[in-house]
Amino acid sequence: MLSTMHDMPLSLAHLLRYGSTVHAGAQVVTWTGSGSRRRTYAEVGRRCSALAHALRGLGIEGDDRVATYMWNNAEHLEAYLAVPAMGAVLHPLNIRLFPEQLIHIANHAEDRVIIVDGSLVPMLAPHLPRLETVEHVIVTGGPSSALAAPSGVTVHSYEELLAGRPDEFDWPEVDERSAAALCYTSGTTGEPKGVAYSHRSLWLHSMQVCMSDGANLRQGESALVVVPQFHVMAWGLPYAAFMIGASLVMPDRFLQPAPLAELIAAERPDFAAAVPTIWQGLLQHLKQHPQDISMLREVLIGGSAVPPSLMRAFEDDHHVTVLHAWGMTETSPLGSVARPPAEADGEERWRYRYSQGRFPASVQARLVDEQGRSVPHDGVSVGELCVRGPWIASSYYGVSAPDKFVDGWLRTGDVGMISEDGYLTLSDRVKDVIKSGGEWISSVDLENAVMGHPAVAGAAVIGIPDERWDERPLVVVVLHAGQAATPAELRDFLAASVARWQLPENWAFVSEIPTTSVGKYDKKQLRAEHRAGRFDVIRP
Ligand code: AMP
Repeated sequence: MLSTMHDMPLSLAHLLRYGSTVHAGAQVVTWTGSGSRRRTYAEVGRRCSALAHALRGLGIEGDDRVATYMWNNAEHLEAYLAVPAMGAVLHPLNIRLFPEQLIHIANHAEDRVIIVDGSLVPMLAPHLPRLETVEHVIVTGGPSSALAAPSGVTVHSYEELLAGRPDEFDWPEVDERSAAALCYTSGTTGEPKGVAYSHRSLWLHSMQVCMSDGANLRQGESALVVVPQFHVMAWGLPYAAFMIGASLVMPDRFLQPAPLAELIAAERPDFAAAVPTIWQGLLQHLKQHPQDISMLREVLIGGSAVPPSLMRAFEDDHHVTVLHAWGMTETSPLGSVARPPAEADGEERWRYRYSQGRFPASVQARLVDEQGRSVPHDGVSVGELCVRGPWIASSYYGVSAPDKFVDGWLRTGDVGMISEDGYLTLSDRVKDVIKSGGEWISSVDLENAVMGHPAVAGAAVIGIPDERWDERPLVVVVLHAGQAATPAELRDFLAASVARWQLPENWAFVSEIPTTSVGKYDKKQLRAEHRAGRFDVIRP
C-alpha cells in the first residue's frame, strides 16, 4: 500500500520563501572591521529575487554552475539562496587553494559565472585567463572597473546588476534530487573531488543542524559563522538559520583573533562554529586581552580532533560549552555530535564530550577492517569508519572512486572505535596513523596529550621513517610566546598519560605549524618538510 501523504519536493526555493517571510526580521550581520552592516531576511529575500533575475539575464539556465569566490558575508548568503532556488548549482570556491587546484576545480565544475568579493579580485584576477568556461565575473562591494577582464569574459558590478530588478521571482519547481550546490574536498590527500548536494539532502541536513542532538540552532539566537562558506557549505548553518529563524553573524575577511574578539564583543552571538585552530588562536588572544565571551551558549568545533585541554579552557576560563563534532565534505558535514547522554555525570560526561560523538538517526555508521569485514561496536575494536544516509555522498561528481564508495557505504578514511551506546572515538586518518613495530600509534592521541601542557600553543604529530620500528612519531611543537619547555620535560609530562612504547623521541620546535586551505594542521606539508630536512629534530 502506498502512503496517503503528499510527495512534496524539498527545495531551497521554498526555504528561501519561508525564511524571508516567516522569519522576515531575522538578520544577516556582516562585520566591516569597525562595525556591522545589517540586512533582514526580508531584504535578503528581495535581493535574492533581483540576483536571480540578473543571472537569468546573463543566460544562466537549468543546472548551470555559478561559483563564488567570497568571504562569509551577506552577499555570499544571497548567492547561497538565489542560485539553487533558481535551479542552478552554487559552487563556492575555496579562496585558499593553490592556483592549480582552483583552476582544476573551476574547469571541472564548468563554472559559467563567478561572484567575487572586491577585496579578493587581486587574488582571482591572475587565474581568470585559465578558467575555460567562465563568461561573467560579478564583483561585490567595490568598483568592477578594478578588474581587467580577459577576452570572452564580461565584468559586472554586483550592486549595479541588481539595481532596479524586480524583488519577486517565479522560483521554478525542481526535482528534489537534483544538485543545488557543489563543494570540492579540501584535497588534503590527492586531487579535490566534487560533492554535489541535492535540494533534498541540504533540506534534511538543515533540520539536523536545528535538532537538539545536532547543533541545536535555535529561533531568535544569532550564530557566528567563522567556518568559511566554501568549507562544506559553512557546515550547513546558513540554510539552517533560514529554516529556524536564527540570525547570522558573518566575519567577512576579519578572521584573526583580535577582530574576532571585537566582533564577539560587539554582536554578542549565542552560537559559533569553526575549526580548532581558530579557537586556539582566540584563547591565546584572550589570555593577553581578557574579555567576556560567556554570552556564547555553545561553540561547535570540528574538522579535526578537539584537544580536551581546549574544551576545558573554554569551560573553566570562559564559561563557554564546546560541542565537538565530526564530519567531512562528503557528509554535508554532520556527522556525529558529542552530546553526552542525559544520565552521564561528572568525568563520565566529559569523556563523552571528548569523543567525536553519536550519529543521528538519519546517518548509519559501521567500522570495517582492512578486508572490509564488520568490526564490533564494543568501544575497543578499531576499524575504518563507513557511513551512509540521505545527506552522505554516494559518489563524486564526474570522477569514479570505487575505493571510496563500497557496497553502498562511504569509506571515510578515518579510523576509530564505536562504543555499544554508539559514540565514535577517532584515533586517526588511515594515512596519518603511525605504524611502529607492527603496532599503531594514534597521532591524534599524542597531539591531544602534548597540547595539555601549559607551555604548548599547538602540536602536530607525524610518523617518520625509523630503521628499527618502521615508523616513529615526530612531534612538531609551537610554544606560547615567552614560555619554554624542553623535549625531555614534554616527554616526562606525556609519561603520565601515554604508554611507554608510544612516547615520542623525536621533537621539533617551530614558530608556526602550516595549515591546509580550511585551517587544519597540514600533515602532508609537515612530512614533506621533514623529508627535505627542514626540521631541527631533537632527541631528548
Ligand atoms: P573535510 O572534508 O575537509 O571537512 O575533512 C574531513 C576530515 O576531517 C575527516 O575525514 C576527518 O579526518 C577530519 N575530521 C573532521 N572532524 C573531526 C573530528 N572531530 N575529529 C577528528 N577528525 C576530524
